[in-house]
Amino acid sequence: MLLILHCTGPDAEDLSWLLHKRPDRAQTFDLSFGRAQLFYPHNAPEHCTAALLVEVDPVALSRGRPGQSPTTPLEPYVNDRPYAASSMLSSAIAHVLGSALNGRCEKRPELVDRALELEAHLPVVAAQGGGEALVQRLFGPLGYDVHTSRLVLDPHFQEWGPSPYWSVRLRAKTTVRSMLEHLYVMLPVLDDAQHYWVSENEVEKLAHKGRDWLAKHPERALVTARFLKHQRALERLAEARFDSDGSRETAIEDHGEHDLEARWPRAESAADPAKGAPLDARRREWVRDALVARHVRRVVDLGCGEGKLVTFLAQHSPIGHITGVDVSPAALEIAQKRVDRLGPSQRERVELIQGSLVYRDARLQGFDAAVLIEVIEHIDEERLRWLEDSVFAVAAPPCVIVTTPNREANAAMPGIAAGAMRHSDHRFEWTRSEFVAWCTRVASTYGYRFEVGAIGDEHPEFGAPTQSAIFERVRDARATPEQRPTEVNA
Ligand code: SAH
Repeated sequence: MLLILHCTGPDAEDLSWLLHKRPDRAQTFDLSFGRAQLFYPHNAPEHCTAALLVEVDPVALSRGRPGQSPTTPLEPYVNDRPYAASSMLSSAIAHVLGSALNGRCEKRPELVDRALELEAHLPVVAAQGGGEALVQRLFGPLGYDVHTSRLVLDPHFQEWGPSPYWSVRLRAKTTVRSMLEHLYVMLPVLDDAQHYWVSENEVEKLAHKGRDWLAKHPERALVTARFLKHQRALERLAEARFDSDGSRETAIEDHGEHDLEARWPRAESAADPAKGAPLDARRREWVRDALVARHVRRVVDLGCGEGKLVTFLAQHSPIGHITGVDVSPAALEIAQKRVDRLGPSQRERVELIQGSLVYRDARLQGFDAAVLIEVIEHIDEERLRWLEDSVFAVAAPPCVIVTTPNREANAAMPGIAAGAMRHSDHRFEWTRSEFVAWCTRVASTYGYRFEVGAIGDEHPEFGAPTQSAIFERVRDARATPEQRPTEVNA
């Protein structure tokens, strides 16, 4: 399948800067489902054309879907996956043109917000359930001049009539980033089939890529439903994200079952029913067990997000006081709704506060334990030192529990392209040895010892999906919030 980007006008050469790919050579990229090539068929001062060509192996794709049987015996061999623009083209955009899609241009940052005369040409689009009117309804409100032409089934046999496919050209004076975001979201919507399993990850991607335009799009409901493969619980989660300004009631009922990573493959085990549970539920149980084993009475959940751990601990542990801290008011609002639904004796043990973990905060002192569940990877690596300081030097509880993704295990997970991360907001994901190196440095700097562990089913080569560490304080290197942080780090 193919995406061709044309840029015309005096700034046409800006396109290659923004795409972060040199115009004088073709480049090839391996993807989990095939490979992509980026090249420039035309590059002149007033007209630059870039082409993204994606080749997929439909048979391998079909084999890689255990549990999904083909609709007909020949379906794995005769299908439109190699040529119809689909979510695989979106994945290729994210993989090959990730910098442009995320609005980064290191060498010429001023170009990111520059509107250019752009045209995106998609030679083959399956506009399911709506044809050219659907293409118009999706791209028209985004300011595109939309041109469609229907492809015939076979030009040599005109009597066979039209095919269900369209050639689509979208023209606008817009930024490369906006155009790529629109394509990234709309290609799977037009195709109405995802090549991978959707999980809460997809909600994140939709919310992130559509943040500036989807909430007000007249076809938002259709876009959300199709992008999330008609999974109602995920759609509600997405709607809650769009409405996090509080203008509508936030639905929280079903989130737990569709959490991030919840659909990753997991072994069924009759002997140990917990083994069949979603990964995030297993993390919560693992943390609860570690806290209870240490007789923790006061715990602080740092980066508590939507409050799943704090409410779980209130319901399923004897811990007397549970504080949740997060920087995001939207996440805390959902957490508060969860807390409000607890029974009175559970609710009174929970407190939620807003705060940032990269600043020293006296409110984090006086706990027996602090937990950081899937949080550190959301902090830029250069700012992680400040989080370490505020957690290990200032809050400095006797016990700190940390979990983070094991990057090696991504290789064993469907739907993650090679080299990609699990979540659009992750700033890094570490291998097991990188995590141990971090734990070693933190422990020796702040007077803790640590033990690493694993959560989730272990792959023989790549290990478990989640890696964990339990730090216990052995030496008092505590600092007060008023001290200058450098005195501690020195
Ligand atoms: N611990 C939760 C949420 C993990 S997502 C769970 O396991 O489900 C990461 C969370 O960290 C988000 O809610 C995000 O808002 C929060 N976060 C990111 N940076 C932060 C910071 N500097 N201070 C406090 N919270 C932060």
